[in-house]
Amino acid sequence: MTTELSTFLDTVKKPELHIHFRGCLNANLFCNMLLQRRKEDHDQDLLSHLSQQIREYILSCHRCQAFLAALAKIPYHVSSLEELKQEDRKYLQQLCRNLWHYNKPRDFFSTYLLTGALGKQAKHYFPLADHFASYLKKQNIVYAELIFSVGEYLDMGMSIDEIKILLAYIHNQVQAVGSQVYYIFDLVRNFPIDVSIKRLEMLLEHNIDHFVAITLGGDETIHETGDFKKLFDIAAHAGLSLSCHAGEFADHTSVEQAVHILGAKRIGHGVQAIHSQKTLEILKDQSITVEVCPTSNQHTGIWKNIQTHPARTFFEMGIPISFASDDPGLFTTSLHQELSIAHTVLGFSIEELKTTLDYGFQSTFQKHTISRETI
Ligand SMILES: [Zn+2]
Repeated sequence: MTTELSTFLDTVKKPELHIHFRGCLNANLFCNMLLQRRKEDHDQDLLSHLSQQIREYILSCHRCQAFLAALAKIPYHVSSLEELKQEDRKYLQQLCRNLWHYNKPRDFFSTYLLTGALGKQAKHYFPLADHFASYLKKQNIVYAELIFSVGEYLDMGMSIDEIKILLAYIHNQVQAVGSQVYYIFDLVRNFPIDVSIKRLEMLLEHNIDHFVAITLGGDETIHETGDFKKLFDIAAHAGLSLSCHAGEFADHTSVEQAVHILGAKRIGHGVQAIHSQKTLEILKDQSITVEVCPTSNQHTGIWKNIQTHPARTFFEMGIPISFASDDPGLFTTSLHQELSIAHTVLGFSIEELKTTLDYGFQSTFQKHTISRETI
C-alpha cells in the first residue's frame, strides 16, 4: 500500500452503509464467544434454540459437524482459546478457519447460520457489539447503518425486549468510541412474506430506537423482488427508508423491481445491473446509490474476478456508489480493504475515493451533519 493511500485511509472520516451484525464475526472471536457461552450455560446442544430447518442445514455441512464435534470434547470450564493446550487450540482454530473458507455459496450460508449458535439472549452478543464498535473506531467510520436480521433472532426465541437491550448496548458502545449507528432491519427473503409483514408491523408497534430503514437480504431466487411490495409499502407509510439487496444472485430485473415496485432508494450489491443499459440508466437517472462490496461478491461467487467488478463502470456513468464491507469478519475484509481494492485494482484515484465517500454521506437514511472532513 502506498503511503498516500494509507495516510488517506487512516485520516479520512468514512460512512459504512452496508454491514451485517453477525457478519462482523471473525473466526477467533466466534470460538471465544462460543466457549464462553458453553461455560456459562453448560449447554449440551448449542443449536437447540435454532429451528429444525436451520439445524438440518448446519448439520448437513461437514465443516460445521467437525467443528461442533471438536468443541464437544472441550471441558466446560474452558472459556477462551488461550486456556486450551496449544495442540487443542491449534486444532480448534484450524477447524474454525475451515469454516471461514468458502468453496461454494452453501459453505458461506452454513457458516453464517452456525454463528446463530452463540445464543438467544442479548448478553450472548455483547462481545460482538464491543468488537463492532472497535472496528468502527479502527476504520475511522464515523457513521454506520448496521443491518440486523431481526427475524432470525425472533425465530431463535429472543424476545423483543432482549433485542432492544442488544440494540441499545450496540448503540452505547458505538457512541463511546465517538461514532454513530442506526439500524436497518433485514426482513430476509427466505421467510414467508406474510410472516415478514406481521413482524414488521410488530416491530413498528414497539418503537425501536434508531431503527431507520428496512432491507431485503437472503436468497433472491425464492420470490420475485416485486412480490415484497406490500412489505415495503408498510415500511414507507411508517416513515422508514428503503434499501434492498438486489442484482446480487438474481439478474438486473431484480434491481429494476426494487427501484420501480418497492421504491428502494439504495441497492445492496446491484452488480447484475451491469448487464442492462436500461437498468444502469434507471440507477443514474434516479440517483439510486449502490452499496458496492467487491470482496463479498468474490467470496459468494457472484463476481469472482475483482478486476472486472462493475463498480468502476457504475462510477464512470455517474451512478452514486458507496464502498462497503458487507460481512467484514466472515469475509476477512474491512472498509479500508475495500477502498484499497478500489484504488489498486479498480483504478479509483484518491480524489475519486473521496467522491464515493461523499456519495455515502449524502445517501444515509438518518439526517446528520457529518462529512468526511467535519469530525
Ligand atoms: Zn448484505
